[in-house]
Amino acid sequence: MSNNKEVSVLGLGAMGVVIARLFLDQGYKVTLWNRSADKADALVARGAVLARSAAEALRVSRVAVMCVYDYRAADAIFAMDGVAAALDGRLLAQLTTGSPKDAREAEVWAHRHGAAYLEGAIQAAPDQMGRPDTPLLVSGAQAVFVEAEPFLKVLAGGIVYLGEKASAAAAMDLATLSSIYGTMLGFLHGARIAEHEGFDVAEYGRIVAGIMPTFAGFLQHEGAVIQSGDFTISQSPMRISVEATQRILQTAQEAGINTEFPTFAAGLFRRADAAGLGGEELAALIKLLRH
Ligand code: NAP
Repeated sequence: MSNNKEVSVLGLGAMGVVIARLFLDQGYKVTLWNRSADKADALVARGAVLARSAAEALRVSRVAVMCVYDYRAADAIFAMDGVAAALDGRLLAQLTTGSPKDAREAEVWAHRHGAAYLEGAIQAAPDQMGRPDTPLLVSGAQAVFVEAEPFLKVLAGGIVYLGEKASAAAAMDLATLSSIYGTMLGFLHGARIAEHEGFDVAEYGRIVAGIMPTFAGFLQHEGAVIQSGDFTISQSPMRISVEATQRILQTAQEAGINTEFPTFAAGLFRRADAAGLGGEELAALIKLLRH
């Protein structure tokens, strides 16, 4: 079992520094390692201990949290002298963002060296860490999660445990990020409309923010529709979106502003309509995406 107030933090970038500070704030004995040792100075001044190597940091505590730039950085650390041996009997919570494949391979590697492994995807900025609602997606063996949960709760109150597949957190991270980027692209096209029409773009941003809670509820409904497999019109007939996206495209063409986003969106809805989905709920577009 872990000593419940000892943790090692590997990686002291913008996120790792906050992770280490949150553990210190909660009275943990924190051991640090970072490729550039000077980033530990302020934390050492607050009581953290700087390890001489990544291997030493892993040896000192049962639980280690790693948060570095990407999996290439994580792999570079795994390849360092003594790290593989030091992982034996340790619990590694990998909070570095990666792909599902990265997570699967890292779990296999960690298990081969005798470590328990958890994968986490942080869905917040450093300043938003440590709050009761800070979102953190986590996956890996249930017993490992149970042991690590008190540690992870220090970092994020809004933990979503996604089950035993180590890749699940990374996969859900990509799914939710897809939502964010789709929204962001639409938002930016809207900003061009706002600019072209001479609107205050900050005001446009405020109006969008006001719409978001209702929109979020709508997305949740469409997710439930897809899961149920029943695409009978319940909230929003596909045809409305076929026409709306066509109108956005046509207006962009007339205005002479960029048409890439509406061309993509209107094209998908036009194909869905041509496939006979116009009379179904909006989420039926998923049927097109499945092929
Ligand atoms: P960062 O400020 O750029 O820090 C990168 C960290 O990775 C540093 O500790 C750096 O060490 C280390 N590193 C890079 N290449 C390395 C290598 N080859 N060998 C060893 N260490 C290496 O990044 P961050 O913002 O802290 O992000 C860390 C992770 O959190 C990323 O996976 C990111 O996607 C995720 N995340 C970040 C945010 C955010 O808003 N910042 C939000 C959600 C998730 P040096 O100090 O020596 O350069």
